[in-house]
Amino acid sequence: MRLLLIEDDPDLSRQMKHVLENDGYVVDTSFDGEDGHFLGETESYDAIVLDLGLPVIDGISVLGKWRKAGISTPVLILTARDGWSEKVAGLDAGADDYVTKPFKIEEVLARVRALIRRAAGQASPELVCGVVTLNTNSSKVTVDGMPVRLTAQEYKLLAYMMHHPEKIISRTELTEHLYDQDFDRDSNTIEVFVTRIRKKLGVPIINTIRGLGYQLANAQE
Ligand code: CA
Repeated sequence: MRLLLIEDDPDLSRQMKHVLENDGYVVDTSFDGEDGHFLGETESYDAIVLDLGLPVIDGISVLGKWRKAGISTPVLILTARDGWSEKVAGLDAGADDYVTKPFKIEEVLARVRALIRRAAGQASPELVCGVVTLNTNSSKVTVDGMPVRLTAQEYKLLAYMMHHPEKIISRTELTEHLYDQDFDRDSNTIEVFVTRIRKKLGVPIINTIRGLGYQLANAQE
């Protein structure tokens, strides 16, 4: 899952990026409203964390522009304490949720998880595909109730697919959502990961759609 973090406080940004990456996200950071707006409009993210007090263009305006342009990426806003009018303005501008500063980073993590899940049409933290279950809170995967050990990259790939069960997902899309901008993107590595995941799960849940990419197996029935 790939996130955009727009926060102008460099210490807070670094700290949040670190924790989010430890939690398995790929994180692009931006430090002002203009740059952040551009990234949100041109890159593909699973969720965006947006501070409201930003240089150049404020967060509410950034959000309003995205929504006007039809960009529906889930957005979590960071608001000042006691800033109730800010929260109202943010939600009215199209935010999906908010966290009040100062916050515990765990709250941001939990809200981001929930936003991504809901955007995928999943109310429960447990994503199920046939006998395979993926718990987005604990990052545990089981097959028929038996735990399966996946590497961080394998987990990310499977989680992305299980958040989009109906969709045919190209290698390019997977690469975009599993690696940050600076990574040397080689879509062949995706094939390697898929092969390993298939082997570890031992059940045919990922189908190759020739020339297009991959799709979860039970979505085609
Ligand atoms: Ca700020």
